Amino acid sequence: MLSVQNLFKAYETRSGEPTGGAFDISFEVARGELFTLLGPSGCGKTTTLRSIAGLETPGSGVIELDGAPLFNGASQVSVPMYERDIGMVFQSYAIWPHMSVFENAAYPLRVQRRNRPSREEIEKRIMRVLEMVGLAKYRGRSATQLSGGQQQRLALARALAREPKLLLLDEPLSNLDAQLREQMRAELKRIQSEWGVTTVYVTHDQAEAMAISDRIAVLNQGRLMQLGSAEEIYERPTTEFVAGFIGRTNFFTGRLAEASVDRSYGVVESAIGPVRCWFHKAAPSGAAVKFVVRPENVECARMSAGHENTFEGNVVSRVYLGDIAEYTIRVSEMDVLVRAHPSVALSPGDATPVYFPADRTIAICE
Ligand code: ADP
Ligand code: MG
Repeated sequence: MLSVQNLFKAYETRSGEPTGGAFDISFEVARGELFTLLGPSGCGKTTTLRSIAGLETPGSGVIELDGAPLFNGASQVSVPMYERDIGMVFQSYAIWPHMSVFENAAYPLRVQRRNRPSREEIEKRIMRVLEMVGLAKYRGRSATQLSGGQQQRLALARALAREPKLLLLDEPLSNLDAQLREQMRAELKRIQSEWGVTTVYVTHDQAEAMAISDRIAVLNQGRLMQLGSAEEIYERPTTEFVAGFIGRTNFFTGRLAEASVDRSYGVVESAIGPVRCWFHKAAPSGAAVKFVVRPENVECARMSAGHENTFEGNVVSRVYLGDIAEYTIRVSEMDVLVRAHPSVALSPGDATPVYFPADRTIAICE
């Protein structure tokens, strides 16, 4: 439905110093998909979204919606913003305080230049979207009398009322408090999938991205680092950045020992000994390799030392958190973070075997 190819937009200061932007970003979004751009502040999420919306003119690249070009740097095509069939909700969604809930949602349709719907059609469409977001019973109310979450849903209703081919959401929940944000993200996901609208969602919050997205593109410093489902980017990160940005993890360094990577596995010589790891691509023998293993994937207490990927460790600390127990276990001078079931009863000073399952011990060779 949406195709973004080699999008390039660089900003610079007046004196020509580069400040950032989006560099060579490519992705495709399927019809009805909720696709998320995730990354830290300043990584180029808004730049990418504004380029799709037509609020920003890229330096180069190609953007197509439903097979028709919105932008093409080479052939100098750039469809004006108001002719793009796109609905948007930004962090600072503007609710018009002097209008009713109904009018807030209906206004963009009333002033639409092309294909303006009839009064009856507007009434029908607005009531359908207000119904969808749970605001139909407040239609006559002043928009200022709505709570933060309701205003957010009104902004969404307004964007959907135009029945756009594409919905762009830029950190739409970040003005809400934590509890409401969690409620609203479930609500947003429900509305998006029931309405079936193709959506590009922007957030810096990895939990939010994982909870709502069909697929996620992780950005850093204007570049696309990895693209995949929440499971793929969490369980099989391909870059150090993605491994560190999404969730917590243990990092190790070493060298690939075996002649080659065989069937996606290879043994890495590291400070704790030889560790068999999963590789997302082949690497030459002797290559410097980092590998990562999530705290919840490290097993302790139950394994016996001497098996593959099993090492002797000593418990440094234990933090009991109710649903889990969090251990720091020292393995040959390395502190390994382990999240274990609370029934695992180890105390500081205890010796314990520590096991890294090879299929969850992920080698990163960038
Ligand atoms: P994000 O939305 O991921 O936080 P942005 O896309 O807004 O990031 O910005 C990406 C980078 O481009 C940042 O380093 C920012 O400082 C820079 N940038 C964004 N807009 C402008 C602008 N209008 N002028 C100069 N630099 C900008
Ligand atoms: Mg932004």
